[in-house]
Amino acid sequence: MENSDYIGRFAPSPSGELHFGSLIAALGSYLQARARRGRWLVRIEDIDPPREVPGAADAILRQLEHYGLRWDGEVMWQSRRHDAYRERLAWLKAQGLCYYCTCTRARIQSVGGTYDGHCRDLQLGPENAALRLRQTRPVLGFHDRLRGDITTDEKLAREDFIIHRRDGLFAYNLAVVVDDHSQGVTEIVRGADLIEPTVRQISLYQHFGWQPPDYIHLPLALNADGNKLSKQNHAPALPTGDPRPEIVRALRFLNQAVAEEWQDLTLDALLEHAVAGWTLVNPPFSNGSR
Ligand code: GLU
Ligand code: ZN
Repeated sequence: MENSDYIGRFAPSPSGELHFGSLIAALGSYLQARARRGRWLVRIEDIDPPREVPGAADAILRQLEHYGLRWDGEVMWQSRRHDAYRERLAWLKAQGLCYYCTCTRARIQSVGGTYDGHCRDLQLGPENAALRLRQTRPVLGFHDRLRGDITTDEKLAREDFIIHRRDGLFAYNLAVVVDDHSQGVTEIVRGADLIEPTVRQISLYQHFGWQPPDYIHLPLALNADGNKLSKQNHAPALPTGDPRPEIVRALRFLNQAVAEEWQDLTLDALLEHAVAGWTLVNPPFSNGSR
């Protein structure tokens, strides 16, 4: 089945069960990987225990199985990857590419909300401090394989962002880059809510001397108020009954042509048809997506 070097992934945070919005990212990355005859990996991004909901990680894996989205190999758990993150932080330290910062949120707000490099040359110690990247390779934009060239806010791109938090937690941008690189991911397919941090992630690849993957940011499902479906605004968990209607709804959301009779296929056959017909078309980004 697999006969290409393509490696894709779905990387949910266990802050709640999957909802329709997360199904879009799961299904989109799955179909893209299967259509390319590549591997599709699942990684549980459990690096933020305070935001974790007990049982959510296992529930997510059961939901993926229920929706017929079978992953390759073993699930990777970020909670078991701390040594790899520490090793990368040590490397950055040895290169002089990061520094400790004790600035409060209030101080950063008072200078306009973007970090101004205040602690860059203060040689502070680790006590009560966050670790920031010394930004030497700002990335101002990137090519999205669905959306074309994207430029992001320059202040954000140039900011010395946090790679290890004051509370001891590893930052998402660090973990995601270390793991995607370590898993050999060649293309990241995820929701448009992650467009903004992408330039920071590419900049980390460049500091490490690694080849960044390709990127595709899928349209986001919005609720009736125009807000993104998320655990924070209580998007309902995916239904536990017949998964097929929800898959069809997700395919239509992704602008795939779905024949009426697909509804009556078995789940596996439905997904096979979806793989065979998969075409990533740049959607108009209207009708409740962006
Ligand atoms: N864990 C992140 C989330 O659930 C996604 C990370 C990614 O796809 O890069 O929002
Ligand atoms: Zn500072």
